[in-house]
Amino acid sequence: MQRHDEPSDDSTVMRKSFSVELWPARNPSGQDRLVAMFELLEKLRPDFTSVTYGAGGSTRDRTQELVNELVGKDWSYPVAHITCVGHSRAELTSILLEYQRHGVEHVLALRGDHPRDSDADLSRSELKHAIELVELAKSLGFRSVGVAAHPQGHPESDSLERDREFLARKLEIADYALTQFYFDADAYPRLVDDLARLGSEKPIVAGVMAPKSWNSLSKMALLSGTHLPEDLAERFATTSDFEALGIEVAIALAQSALSDGAPGIHLYTMNSALSTAVIFEALAKELGRDDV
Ligand code: FAD
Repeated sequence: MQRHDEPSDDSTVMRKSFSVELWPARNPSGQDRLVAMFELLEKLRPDFTSVTYGAGGSTRDRTQELVNELVGKDWSYPVAHITCVGHSRAELTSILLEYQRHGVEHVLALRGDHPRDSDADLSRSELKHAIELVELAKSLGFRSVGVAAHPQGHPESDSLERDREFLARKLEIADYALTQFYFDADAYPRLVDDLARLGSEKPIVAGVMAPKSWNSLSKMALLSGTHLPEDLAERFATTSDFEALGIEVAIALAQSALSDGAPGIHLYTMNSALSTAVIFEALAKELGRDDV
């Protein structure tokens, strides 16, 4: 992970990274949301901007277009997500080399989830785990290769201990991890402590999401294996303003992770300029970014 700006020269404020995730647009209204995001991000100057990749290659062209659009922006640099599923090694190599030809130097290496509504041929998945993709990207000379970390364990894992061991191995070669979103504030320091016990000291950036609706929250939590604490589920189920509560929860989780020593916050923006602006403003002081 590399900072976009120089750290603040105010020695009393240690700058923490602030990064965002974007989705490639699917239709014209999605494109309008991206335009609004770009206008906002130019002001916020995130340390990096990551772009999701539809596992199986479903967003391959749109992801590449968006990543390429971010190359050379003076307010951030792109981190291209790339996933193993549905691709041969040769295809993954070709996607990575194509990025390099466009000046992309940073990738997030993921396994991906098997897409249910895609006709991608999964028997073509030659790389079974993200660690193999980290090795491939590293062998091609990317400046940084990040990985996913699952604070509450990956849903397919036999046990939390095994999942932590695999993550620690992945982090021996990767440069940093971005966490999956989570709603139990203790999950972040537990993850960092477990990794430290396994001898892994690489930066673990806390991933934070402001859920927008009960429907999307339950779908995403199910897919990612994220536990929603009962009291929070009750608040989400009964609130009259779901989005405002989502933002409040995201801010509280980010503040908690920063006070637990997180080196930065990665915001799953879902391309919402409004919630990104509110969350950034609330965190600016803790991030050492109250100049914005
Ligand atoms: P892995 O590290 O391969 O782990 C997957 C499972 O295999 C885990 O249970 C792990 O314990 C186990 N495992 C790992 N290594 C081994 C081994 N050697 N032997 C046996 N078991 C092993 N998905 C997308 O499709 N597109 C995206 O753009 C995307 N972006 C993401 C961004 C972030 C920050 C995060 C946190 C997730 C993202 N995902 C994305 C979701 C991700 O692809 C899924 O969570 C996926 O199920 C696991 O990916 P991974 O890279 O953690 O896989």
